[in-house]
Amino acid sequence: MKTFEIPEFYNSPILSRVKDYRTEKDPKKKDFSPTLLDFGNVRFLLARHFGFCYGVQNAIELSFRAVKENPDKRIFLLSQMIHNPEVNSNLQDRGVRFLMDTDGKTITPFSELTKEDVVIIPAFGTTLAISKQLADIGIEIKTYDTTCPFVHRVWNKAEKLGSEKFTVIIHGKPGHEETRATFSHSSANSPSLIVKDKKETQLLGDYILGKLTLEQFEEIFKGRYSAAFNPLTSLERLGVINQTTMLAEDTQEIANYLKQVMTDKFGVENISKHFADTRDTLCYATNENQDATHQLLKQDADVAIVVGGYNSSNTSHLVELCEQRFKTFFISSVKEIESKDKIHYFDIHSEERKTADSFLPDKNPLTVVLTSGASCPDAMVEEVLMKILSFYGSTKTVEEALAGLN
Ligand code: SF4
Repeated sequence: MKTFEIPEFYNSPILSRVKDYRTEKDPKKKDFSPTLLDFGNVRFLLARHFGFCYGVQNAIELSFRAVKENPDKRIFLLSQMIHNPEVNSNLQDRGVRFLMDTDGKTITPFSELTKEDVVIIPAFGTTLAISKQLADIGIEIKTYDTTCPFVHRVWNKAEKLGSEKFTVIIHGKPGHEETRATFSHSSANSPSLIVKDKKETQLLGDYILGKLTLEQFEEIFKGRYSAAFNPLTSLERLGVINQTTMLAEDTQEIANYLKQVMTDKFGVENISKHFADTRDTLCYATNENQDATHQLLKQDADVAIVVGGYNSSNTSHLVELCEQRFKTFFISSVKEIESKDKIHYFDIHSEERKTADSFLPDKNPLTVVLTSGASCPDAMVEEVLMKILSFYGSTKTVEEALAGLN
């Protein structure tokens, strides 16, 4: 895979050695079991895959290059480049300004832009309407368009489904930048509808099977379908695509469920005419990180810590998986660990930042699961690891722990 120029301060000397060790032992990435980094009285179980993915590295390289190559120009990010507050603020520290927040609300009006400005498109991509707005101002967006190739792949899939006259059902978070961008691109070629989860998909299925009225459908899916989508005629031929960072199991269940609904309605003998049997469009990083987390779930551990931005979709799904087995704390940085007895964390269910006491069980040895999302610098994970170690006066040095990798 291509290598990128990433600022040194995002790297972790310790975790780089762990990752290099695993890559050397398993270059074809077949083994998803975790790595044990054993400090004696504290043991870390590190996921086989975590941290910066291809798309995030590409976005970081291009964004920092934009800063370097345009010292005399104003540089804007369309919205958060990736869902990691540290990385976004590092760019802001270098003078980069935001045009919109993560919900698409204006921070700097487009009317203030001129054709001399540089605009960076984030890894999630953007809508056709925004691309046109920028083009109309005369801004050239191709040079610093960091849209991930795996997001482009989803748009291509949507286009193919549209060319085959399928309506595109998008499984994604409706407010997420990537889903908004995908919806825009998909809508250009085919009627498109967003479903956010299994519950909504069941409601869609109920409507297809005549168990809900048109009025009920419109109320549930208001604002979620494209102008060309007609609830009376656009649900005869369906194809499913996904936001790249959804939970693999959910996506699979949604596709299977819709296929069953279409089978019930049109008969098994006609299913190929009514349901496009495609693979999901999750990206490789989502799959690898989730597969690695599943392997973590087979281990015994006392607590799990997941590091990443609180609005990061891929990270929140890792938290969801870890919660199946461990007491799990989702933290945005080491700053959330106030002391050995106090941690601030994000509760993905209530979507609130909360505080917990005694988050590290009184065990010797203590086993901590540690992982992070695809937009989290390894340096931030290392800080968490070192902070936890600092509470214990470990019996082994970092070198001794690294020497014990197997
Ligand atoms: S999580 Fe996947 S789609 Fe998103 S930037 Fe990374 S590789 Fe690209």
